[in-house]
Amino acid sequence: MEKHLLSKSTFIRGMQCSKSLYLYKHRYFLRDRISPEQLARFSRGTDVGLLAQNLFPDGIDCKPASPRQYAKSLEKTQQIVIEASADVIYEAVFQHHQVLIMLDVLVRENESWNAYEVKSSLKISDTFLLDAALQYYVMKGAGLAIDKFFLVHLNPDYVRNGQLELHQLFVKTDVTDQVLQRQPLIAQKIDALIGVVGLTKSPEVSIGTHCNQPYPCDFIGHCHKNVPVGSVLELTYWSTEEKFALYDSGTLKFSEIKNAAVLNQAQQIELRCRQSGCEYFDKNGLKDFFNKISNAPIFLSLLSHRQAVPAWQGYKPYDLLPLSAGFGGGNENSNFINNATDSPDESFFKFLQPLIASNESVVVFDAARFKELLQRMAVRNSNMLQDTEALAARIIDLKEVFSQILYYNPQVGQDFSLLQLSKLIFGNSHLTNVPFISDTLATSGYLKAAKPMDAATAQKLAAYSQSHQVMTEAFYKYLIEKL
Ligand code: SF4
Repeated sequence: MEKHLLSKSTFIRGMQCSKSLYLYKHRYFLRDRISPEQLARFSRGTDVGLLAQNLFPDGIDCKPASPRQYAKSLEKTQQIVIEASADVIYEAVFQHHQVLIMLDVLVRENESWNAYEVKSSLKISDTFLLDAALQYYVMKGAGLAIDKFFLVHLNPDYVRNGQLELHQLFVKTDVTDQVLQRQPLIAQKIDALIGVVGLTKSPEVSIGTHCNQPYPCDFIGHCHKNVPVGSVLELTYWSTEEKFALYDSGTLKFSEIKNAAVLNQAQQIELRCRQSGCEYFDKNGLKDFFNKISNAPIFLSLLSHRQAVPAWQGYKPYDLLPLSAGFGGGNENSNFINNATDSPDESFFKFLQPLIASNESVVVFDAARFKELLQRMAVRNSNMLQDTEALAARIIDLKEVFSQILYYNPQVGQDFSLLQLSKLIFGNSHLTNVPFISDTLATSGYLKAAKPMDAATAQKLAAYSQSHQVMTEAFYKYLIEKL
């Protein structure tokens, strides 16, 4: 059999950008280096696909042992289909029109087959439908009598009650009609992308919004290398579309932006700050903001994680779990490490008791997750409702000084962390003993540790949590001093 030129992932890559496909096939070495955060994210992840196989028990697995063994998997799948020797196939492999695909689950229904592709998300996206349409096209073209195509994803409304009920945890959505509508497009795109693979030089594609949509491209470092320092693409209060509209019209640097009068207030402030290099303080706005905070506020930090498959009673897919937290004071009771092998609700609630008993404001940098966690705990435990609601009402989110445009620092990007902000304002003074360089790596450290956790990991997480309380308090004081 002739070697395939495209797979599902390279097809989706090519649909996003033909240059990305060309570079991937011919200039792979130009890919961006994978950051420790990306590596940690890849190596994490619950294998929702494996769990979903239990919806269709007793199947035969055709998954290749290595990428070089696709031909064997292809033969094995063909043989099972021809001989009707199984009713369920996992990781079925097909090839047609020089495209190779692997489907999560194939189920025989009388004389035909139904296809099931599993997604670990809570809903269906256009990319998933495109992906399904490609798989359908290849299976049909390879001669399979395929009847229906289903996308299987996690049910956002599922609440665990006792044992996991897989038929309620997963939703099977019949997308056959959408998949059939996309067949002419798929045939046409495969021809076009095979043409791209056969090119002798890279297609000319300008950088644009597609560099991050639907996925961040891994050739950004290469393609964006000529973007000047001080480019409009660095701006914070412009949408990606607005930034590329400026860039494409020839306004490459923010110093070249004319007609500032048409900009909104946030954009005007940002532009002034970036051009002068100075920070912005809305002193009256900040005074009003700080007037809402009690005299002796408590500074809290929280590291949390979304768990795809609910592990305990009352939990939903992607419910938040507290991993570590702290609210200063330096004593043992002001630190929380989730070392439980069952639901942490009770132990986290106990940890929160001093905060619940106090009347002080609780200052958090980026409080959305903490508020969500309190709200979900109250739903799972009605006895916690009153206390968690009262506590939530006293939370002050310090990151709101950015969204309310009370403070602006021209060096912050769009998606910044407390660690980055602290480094900008205070240099390395708060960072010397921080054991992880980001929440992603701290979460990864937590997830890798066996439970109950070893003392060294628990200590590192406590130190990470403490460093975030210190940085939150330092930023709070920094702003107050400017009033
Ligand atoms: S960085 Fe943008 S232009 Fe370059 S290959 Fe990726 S998507 Fe295409």
